[in-house]
Amino acid sequence: MVRYTVETETLFPTLFKRGLLLKVIKPVIPFLLHALRNGWASLTFQVNDRCTGCSTCSKVCPMNNVSFFNDRPVWGDSCLSCFACLQWCPCEAIQLGRGKVRVDRYNHPEIKSEDLYYTGSVALH
Ligand code: SF4
Ligand code: SF4
Repeated sequence: MVRYTVETETLFPTLFKRGLLLKVIKPVIPFLLHALRNGWASLTFQVNDRCTGCSTCSKVCPMNNVSFFNDRPVWGDSCLSCFACLQWCPCEAIQLGRGKVRVDRYNHPEIKSEDLYYTGSVALH
């Protein structure tokens, strides 16, 4: 019989006790500093010349928020900030804030971008 542990504490106290809070917060600090210096609007997605127009960014977006103009992605106003478009771009062509904030890329080694292709839209309540 499989036994499951039920979490009874909220996220931040648990992370703090396990010494993981700083590890979780650290990657966010450059974004916050950039936004404080330049305004939140400066943290928009940008695409550079590495883009091949493969449309992966559009296909993995759960909000259907990425369309194309002149073979380049254009972002709409329905972003959930899931970062799937940025993380799954095979050319690392998508940047935040004109590449002024460094974003590490990570994808699960056993998941392909095709597994994430989404054809509907997320219902927000
Ligand atoms: S996934 Fe990357 S290379 Fe492909 S269209 Fe989007 S930005 Fe361009
Ligand atoms: S961050 Fe997520 S929701 Fe926003 S445009 Fe990219 S894939 Fe779509």
